[in-house]
Amino acid sequence: MDSEAHHQLHAFFFPFMAYGHMIPTVDIARLFAAHRVKVTIILTPLNAPIFSKTIERDRSSGLDIHIQILQFPAIEAGLPEGIENVEVLTSPEMVPKFFVAIKMLQEPLEHLMEEHHPDFIIADMFLPFATEAAGKFGIPLLIFHGTNFFYQCVQESLKCHKPYKGVTSDSETFVVPGLPDKIEMTRLQFTNDFKVETEFNTKLMDQMRDAELKSFGVLVNSFYELEPAYAEHYKNVMGRRAWHIGPVSLRNRDTIDKVQRGKKASIDEHYVLNWLDTKEPNSVLYICFGSMSRISRSQLYEMAMGLEDSGFSFVWVVRTLKDEEVERFLPEGFEERMEGKGLIIRDWAPQVLILDHPAVGGFMTHCGWNSILEGVTAGVPMITWPMFAEQFYNENLVTQVLKIGIQVGVEESNSWIETKDVSVKKEKIGNVVTQLMGDGEEAEEMRRKVKELSEKAKRAVEEGGSSYEDLNALIEELKMCRKPSP
Ligand code: UDP
Repeated sequence: MDSEAHHQLHAFFFPFMAYGHMIPTVDIARLFAAHRVKVTIILTPLNAPIFSKTIERDRSSGLDIHIQILQFPAIEAGLPEGIENVEVLTSPEMVPKFFVAIKMLQEPLEHLMEEHHPDFIIADMFLPFATEAAGKFGIPLLIFHGTNFFYQCVQESLKCHKPYKGVTSDSETFVVPGLPDKIEMTRLQFTNDFKVETEFNTKLMDQMRDAELKSFGVLVNSFYELEPAYAEHYKNVMGRRAWHIGPVSLRNRDTIDKVQRGKKASIDEHYVLNWLDTKEPNSVLYICFGSMSRISRSQLYEMAMGLEDSGFSFVWVVRTLKDEEVERFLPEGFEERMEGKGLIIRDWAPQVLILDHPAVGGFMTHCGWNSILEGVTAGVPMITWPMFAEQFYNENLVTQVLKIGIQVGVEESNSWIETKDVSVKKEKIGNVVTQLMGDGEEAEEMRRKVKELSEKAKRAVEEGGSSYEDLNALIEELKMCRKPSP
């Protein structure tokens, strides 16, 4: 064995089975591999093929990176066969069962650890049992949340100070205390774990918090220059250990990596790129609501009308509520009238590839953290349309702290699984699109700010940049913790 192989660290990466978690985790795994760490990514049979081509490409370029498959015990947990991703859950009752199946993965994980002797594990926050497994083997475990510093700080302040108890209605605003900026929220924006204190939610949240406190630290897909005050607050005020290593999407440098990032795109990439090539710089609005949100027919109809009224060009990724045909929500003759002006993509778009095109000048987003960070990285200002989870917090970061986006005006957090109708009317949609895509002073200022952040994002991951150096520092520290070979 040469000395390089002898000193090579071996890491297990264990993502949660949702696109918004698997995609960045695989990017992170590839980053570690590029830093000469041997990497094993644990995926289930139906999720593995989504990433296998990318991993094969990395391997043929000389990286030591592999996928290890673990069977997902859907049937044993009372779920139908073939459920291995939260995207395909169809009722709230399936959610606790999904987590029962996940918990059953602890034993197979421990078998894998016995067999392969990894030096450390990076596991998603939704897999708290992995911390216990790592503890049994005496190796460090890092948690990946999939969110930013800002959210962690807001959430902690809400938990400690409970400022929401002092308001008289769900729509009354309150200030989140003890933060670097004045952040205002309402109870309507809360995530489910605050709103619905079921036994399942409370137990899972407690397990996750406990796992985090026992972990080696947290990996954050963000960069220092984006939210310096919150990175400091998280580490120094909250006392957590964290390494910021993002934006991890920048690991995907060429077209093929950008196209094959996640699900298979429902449109040919050359077609989209050629279509965008015909447009002026910054003239196209890209609209996408992530991998899980589905929108009601009536809301999609309002969106179509609002987009048409605005007169701006757009690329629109549409995923309807279950069993609804896309065509059925479009206003009469919409597609004909929008020919050359609007491009509709059903189901899945190569998002990073589209955002990076110079013709794209705005992003209407559901505020999933990956999407926001990808928008920032591409230097594109946003229209924020949060729906569930921590998306309202992310909206606050974009509009109240960074000031690179305009709110569409959604007031209440929704369920991702049984989405209620939200009705933002076409007039409002048309207005915010015109405001963001037009040449008004406020929009110009947002474009200027987000372009600056985009430059900083790219510098952060280059050699000597803040994220690059944090990743290096982490790897060096992990080398020091390495146990002697058995
Ligand atoms: N994504 C994509 N094409 C789509 C929808 C989503 O490439 O049509 C990617 C997007 O680039 C991001 C991830 O899927 O990396 C979605 O994560 P995010 O945190 O934005 O939202 P979530 O899906 O978790 O709600």
